[in-house]
Amino acid sequence: MTIALYDAERVEHLLDYPGCIAAMRHAMRALSEGKAQPLRQILKVSETILFGVMPGDLAAIDSFGAKLVSVTEDQARPGRARHRGVVVTFAAGTGEIGSIADAEAVTSIRTACASAAATDALARTDAEVLAVFGAGTQAETHIRALRHVRNFRRIVVWSRSTDKAAALATRLSAELGIPIEAERDGWRAAGEADVICTVTSAKEPILFRAWVREGTHINLVGSSFLGPVEVDNALVAESRYIADYRPGALAQASELAAARAAGLITDDHVVGEVGAVYAGTLAGRESLDQITIYKSLGHVAQDLAAVSYLHGRAITASREQIADAS
Ligand code: NDP
Repeated sequence: MTIALYDAERVEHLLDYPGCIAAMRHAMRALSEGKAQPLRQILKVSETILFGVMPGDLAAIDSFGAKLVSVTEDQARPGRARHRGVVVTFAAGTGEIGSIADAEAVTSIRTACASAAATDALARTDAEVLAVFGAGTQAETHIRALRHVRNFRRIVVWSRSTDKAAALATRLSAELGIPIEAERDGWRAAGEADVICTVTSAKEPILFRAWVREGTHINLVGSSFLGPVEVDNALVAESRYIADYRPGALAQASELAAARAAGLITDDHVVGEVGAVYAGTLAGRESLDQITIYKSLGHVAQDLAAVSYLHGRAITASREQIADAS
């Protein structure tokens, strides 16, 4: 048996953003239309290591499998996280292992592409200013991904360390050829934005309802387990809240749990899943001045779809090489 292995470099080479955005749209729709999936388990191995186990089965792409990751602090970059592990895909028809891919590289790109697909469906069509809260891996991939779904005339980056925000803004602005600037004040970054991505490891709110304009779309990405919150309860309560996977959000979305504990909302506040919006069975944005939230906890359906997509590209590329050589 030959198992295809994709290290981080190969994943980054094969997982192009437009293709991955389309794969995320397809996967999330399939997730919403398909059978119930097990919830992710997070084991606390020690004070410094979490172990995430995420099994899933996505009939729409004839694949099942799991993502296994350790989450640790990055010793080389204090304050930053590493998500090291693998995504293993199996062929639904035969049970054979299809491929194994570096989970960190897959996660960094598929999360941003899932947010981009959600932004395309939920943000105002005239959105032209993007604010990114955070200056780490996800901040970078979110900027790379979201520019494929809206023509942003301006992108601002806020981070707790303005020098890191400035370094990211300068580097990406030069590489992508679009105006990206660092903003020292969170309220100013939020106040001019049509789309906001929160991609920090903050434990307390770094974004507040009072800062956000009517009509803004927010991708709430940074907190992926109960405990840390990135936004205040009022912002959750006053937004149209759409999950990646509703059972996951009800069990593990921290900002939702906090607003619910404060008595501001009930489970009904999660109006549905983004996949249902893609399928046309759930309304996305209902008015121009509505604030919308896409809550991303991350789902293994996204990992399976991303790896199946890049595996398909690798097979096509190798067939073309063989054809060229013959
Ligand atoms: P990085 O470690 O690369 O970046 C983390 C960012 O958060 C940095 O900008 C860091 O600031 C900032 N930060 C850390 N602590 C605080 C704080 N207390 N207040 C404000 N900002 C803070 O992580 P990633 O970009 O890979 O991931 C970002 C978050 O997204 C993580 O929490 C991660 O678990 C989550 N995530 C969610 C996924 C999903 O599917 N929903 C998938 C992958 C990640 P500084 O630059 O100063 O260190």
